Amino acid sequence: MKTIGLIGGMSWESSAVYYEILNTEVNKLLGGFHSCKSIMISVDFAGIEKLQHNDDWQTLNNIMASSAKKLELAGADIVLLCTNTMHLCSDSIIKNINIPFLHIAEATGKEIVKQNIKKVGLLGTRFTMEMDFYKGLLVKDFGIEVVIPSVEERKKVHDIIYNELVHGQIKSDSKEVYKKIIQNLEAQGAEGVILGCTEIPLLIKDSDVNIPIFDTTKIHAKKAVEWAVKD
Ligand code: GLU
Repeated sequence: MKTIGLIGGMSWESSAVYYEILNTEVNKLLGGFHSCKSIMISVDFAGIEKLQHNDDWQTLNNIMASSAKKLELAGADIVLLCTNTMHLCSDSIIKNINIPFLHIAEATGKEIVKQNIKKVGLLGTRFTMEMDFYKGLLVKDFGIEVVIPSVEERKKVHDIIYNELVHGQIKSDSKEVYKKIIQNLEAQGAEGVILGCTEIPLLIKDSDVNIPIFDTTKIHAKKAVEWAVKD
């Protein structure tokens, strides 16, 4: 089994889910006492969140790239960045390491194509919904059409992530807000919805919506396990 390297802490609420999925998936595949070989470098989210909202992506690039390098030097065979938003820094990470980087949007795009879905809704932080690094990859590499919520809805989605979900707060009112926004995406022709923030699956489950959900945390972690155990 190969060793999976994780850059976590963004937030730790979802990194804990990654850790759980990695171990349960390895055990499902290999049985017995098997668990996942992994190394996690976990950052302090306070500094990261500040840099994000100050749009200081250069400093964030440096932090992410050096975290990935530390994982490589510690013996990781692959790097996973346990947040969708911070994939804005993926080019800097890839340039700085000699081991593979498993991109979350690429893993998700493959799942969407497998389900023969052509048009999806995307929920995430405003960075993920509005900037091109995520949608652009889905359009360019997979030919998937991506719809995002309205400006007002995007603000609600973003604020619930930073004010509640990353603090581990799961509120039924916020679940209703998300459900309504997903229904609006469906009305615009979305055949599925990407939970493009690793904390959203803490709030929204399959049974909450009428269309397939793409849980990026689960998809990303499961793909890494498949890779790690394949030989
Ligand atoms: N975990 C989140 C994501 O997947 C948001 C927190 C962050 O900004 O990294 O985008």
